[in-house]
Amino acid sequence: MDLVVANATVFDGTGAPGAPGWVGIERDRIVAIGGADEPPAAARTVDARGMVVAPGFVDVHNHSDLSPFVLPTMPSTVRQGVTSVVVGNCGSSPFPLSSWEEGLSLAYAGGDGDDHPPPTWTRWGDYLDAIDAARPSVNVATLIGHGSVRREVVGEERRRPSEDELAWMRTLVREAVADGAVGLSTGLIYVPGIYTDTDEVIALARAAAGAGGLYASHIRGEGRDLFRAVDEALAVGAAAELPVHISHLKCETSLMWGRADDLLERLHDAPDATGDQYPYEAWNSSLSSLLPPWAPAAAIAAVAAQGRERLRTAVEIGEPDFQSSVEGVGWDRIVLETAPEERWRGRSVAAVAEERGIAPFDAMVELLDADPEISCIGHAMAPEDVRTILADPGVFVASDASATAPNGPGGDLPVHPRSYGTFPRALTIARDEALLPLEAVIRKMTSLPAERFGLTGRGRIEPGSFADLVVFNPTTINDRATFDEPHTFPKGITSVVVNGVVAWSDGDAPIARAGRALRRV
Ligand SMILES: [Zn+2]
Repeated sequence: MDLVVANATVFDGTGAPGAPGWVGIERDRIVAIGGADEPPAAARTVDARGMVVAPGFVDVHNHSDLSPFVLPTMPSTVRQGVTSVVVGNCGSSPFPLSSWEEGLSLAYAGGDGDDHPPPTWTRWGDYLDAIDAARPSVNVATLIGHGSVRREVVGEERRRPSEDELAWMRTLVREAVADGAVGLSTGLIYVPGIYTDTDEVIALARAAAGAGGLYASHIRGEGRDLFRAVDEALAVGAAAELPVHISHLKCETSLMWGRADDLLERLHDAPDATGDQYPYEAWNSSLSSLLPPWAPAAAIAAVAAQGRERLRTAVEIGEPDFQSSVEGVGWDRIVLETAPEERWRGRSVAAVAEERGIAPFDAMVELLDADPEISCIGHAMAPEDVRTILADPGVFVASDASATAPNGPGGDLPVHPRSYGTFPRALTIARDEALLPLEAVIRKMTSLPAERFGLTGRGRIEPGSFADLVVFNPTTINDRATFDEPHTFPKGITSVVVNGVVAWSDGDAPIARAGRALRRV
């Protein structure tokens, strides 16, 4: 055999309890699984005494769309045991490429990708081929982002698409899913998704459904409007007849704390709905996501000049059709990740306002006027709700992060610790607080998400499946990344195998790049 993981406790990902044994690999596949018998000889043996071997973790909500091209080793991703990611989430995918080209060139220039010109693509299949050619360290499946499609066809105008425009958008979605995208995503709090009515989403979801894809949504509200937004996503699934997946389940703002059970019940009662979660009490998004649809960040100064009080009310309290992300949170809990002045990074909007001697809302306007693309972290969820959602055996664990590294792109930013710690953290909390047995946590990180997102042959340890594995110590595993020190790798993971290749193992060996583009089949 090419590779054997020996002396391990094998968890196969199906929810079955672990059993002592070994896993044998030839080329990119698992070919044999043994028990207490002597493992066969192999070109390389990983001794996993005292360790668990599980299917590699599947991260269905990931934003490493450009990482294969600018940081192909993806250290923060692979070192938390992830072997497959799904990108193109929250309505945003690097296709059509036009709106991403500049960002890709910039990121490419600053990244540590291979030394060749940035790739380009004109259809989805070419994009998947470019991922293959880039050889990232983990497998990459893709969703087509509704926001990117709308930006390509309608621009950033706040209006309905014409019949012709909608037909063109449908064609783009249908072609992408036919080429191998696993479905359609929306981001209904972001420009231009925020301009979209339910009928438009249904029309595009039908195009995805016709080609066999699912519908994944960053829903229209996760605070005051949470349940209305969940119902909208479920209505899309019912009307377009496709599976619905609700991204990063949470109960945001103190107005919604304690409602996690109600949220899960909504999902359980729906005919074909799933969700995922990052197990943290803070979100990470753009500062402009605090704005109502009629206030584009790029024109914030002009909008504020026209009607400062109306804008302040919308942002801090909300409007009938727009929920505030500040109400029930407070400006002191909204912390800048990027900022026009470096010394403001890691500080709250309230702290910047105090230093400037102005109100926090006015500080937000000044900040967005200087840089509409600022990102921030909002400490807006309750620990109890995070645990209630984590304890649901059917909710997947997912990072909502993009790959980074302490010395790589983003390595100097106060990023969200989920970039490094999501999967180890789920294991850590579930163990320390006895939320779920280990086999149940592994299942919601492996076979369940792989099946739901059509990652055929992944997410299980069984003969014939792809050899994507993680070896970890269940007693010592610990996410160590914190909001104060986010660029910290977890503890307790000793080996990660991708397509039969040891991608990473404890020690100094460089990260191997054996990942592939995953096409829906
Ligand atoms: Zn999102």
